[in-house]
Amino acid sequence: MRPQVDIVESDAELPEQADAVVIGGGIIGVSTAWTLARRGLSVVLCEKGRIGGEQSSRNWGFCRQQGRDPREIPLIIESLRIWRGIEKDIEAPVGFKQAGCLYLAETDDQAKGYEDWLEHAKPYQLDSRLVSGDELDGLMPGSSVPYKAALYTASDGRAEPSKAAPAIAQAARRAGAEIFTGCAVRGIETSGGRVCAAVTEKGTIKTDTVVLAGGAWSRLFCGNNGLSLPQLKVLSSVMRTRPMPLVTENAVWAPGYAYRRRDDGGYTIAHGLSIVVDVVPDSFKLAHRFTAAMWKEQKSLHLRLGRQFWRELTTAGRWELDETTPFEKTRVLDPDPATKILNKAIKGLRRALPAFDKAEIAERWAGYIDVTPDEVPVISEVDEVPGLIIATGFSGHGFGIGPGAGRLAADLACGTEPIVDATPFRFSRFRGGRSEASSAPVPV
Ligand SMILES: Cc1cc2nc3c(=O)[nH]c(=O)nc-3n(C[C@H](O)[C@H](O)[C@H](O)COP(=O)(O)OP(=O)(O)OC[C@H]3O[C@@H](n4cnc5c(N)ncnc54)[C@H](O)[C@@H]3O)c2cc1C
Repeated sequence: MRPQVDIVESDAELPEQADAVVIGGGIIGVSTAWTLARRGLSVVLCEKGRIGGEQSSRNWGFCRQQGRDPREIPLIIESLRIWRGIEKDIEAPVGFKQAGCLYLAETDDQAKGYEDWLEHAKPYQLDSRLVSGDELDGLMPGSSVPYKAALYTASDGRAEPSKAAPAIAQAARRAGAEIFTGCAVRGIETSGGRVCAAVTEKGTIKTDTVVLAGGAWSRLFCGNNGLSLPQLKVLSSVMRTRPMPLVTENAVWAPGYAYRRRDDGGYTIAHGLSIVVDVVPDSFKLAHRFTAAMWKEQKSLHLRLGRQFWRELTTAGRWELDETTPFEKTRVLDPDPATKILNKAIKGLRRALPAFDKAEIAERWAGYIDVTPDEVPVISEVDEVPGLIIATGFSGHGFGIGPGAGRLAADLACGTEPIVDATPFRFSRFRGGRSEASSAPVPV
């Protein structure tokens, strides 16, 4: 049950040496590789499965500033600047459209949550604001639910997940990057404590810079290198309709549903709040770190004890670099969607917007989202291993911020002036015990 994603063919022969090796061909890895290649560095990107095969093709496609943790706002502003010009820069369509984003409030409490967020976001002078009455009716024509208010940002946008990562990867290749799919990186080698090589299943590449953009696999990769990255996975389910008449152009989130217009004329639809959390061995190991986040999101989480526990219990946590690794055993993480949750979402959407009554569901899928304890990513050098940069943990909102985050990871890799202050994203913030939950008002 994979959403369609444009195919990027692999290069043939692994080079012996590169200025930088990027691990992972999601939106973060391809954006990093694209930036580095344009700066004239020799770059190799290794992807264990296919480019954009995991989260980066499975997401809703919202590219939004609103509702973000304030620590991410400077980076998302830069990222949207990149999105606005990206089709010209990479000479390929990615479906980016600045069509606005709307978060609906059914209760006064939810509206108050948005007001509080607006207060946090004030220093950044976004165009986000609270709307109600006739203006809200105009943004949600035909709605049969009397929403109290909504958070609205006209400068937010959307893009096509099935196209973006592959198109940026192709642009990186044209700029000189070499791209290998079906090529897992098993680990890194160090010399005097510094990175000196990336070891892949197809051979070793000498390099002094490795960027780990491994999405939901980053914790496992770090663990084999003696680094503890607090990261869990949650499962989010999605569906798309066949082409249908336009309802709204803006991307909409409500407690019971979320949707956005697709460039094929259909809609991507999901539940606004329901997320499945598989109980796995890491749930216990990391429980103390995730307490605040779990408490904050408690209404959205459905705990499930099942096959995934066994799968992760029997997954190797340590391996030698000449052994087959878990990355080679699961080329593409492709979980089953939660049908009940999707049925609830379409029912809720039809109740609120009868224009969706005749919507035909064409496809359903799911994706594992990688989450950090404070729901803010790590984009950081690793103090203990000079030459290793981690860009991961985007906690359900890394697609929109992806081009900016890739640029920041490339800045750290090159040692150039960072596009924004990287301090909020440092890896070392997790050295202590418990973590603060994010102050963002909705989960995704
Ligand atoms: C259902 C869903 C809805 C979402 N909605 C939104 C949204 O509307 N807006 C938004 O901004 N974000 C959204 N997100 C989040 C967003 O998709 C992610 O934050 C983002 O795609 C993360 O990108 P990434 O490159 O870090 O990870 P991924 O896209 O998961 O890519 C990581 C890649 O690394 C590869 N890899 C891992 N380990 C290795 C290794 N050792 N060697 C080689 N390759 C390796 C994997 O195969 C994978 O392809 C959503 C996510 C999901 C699942």
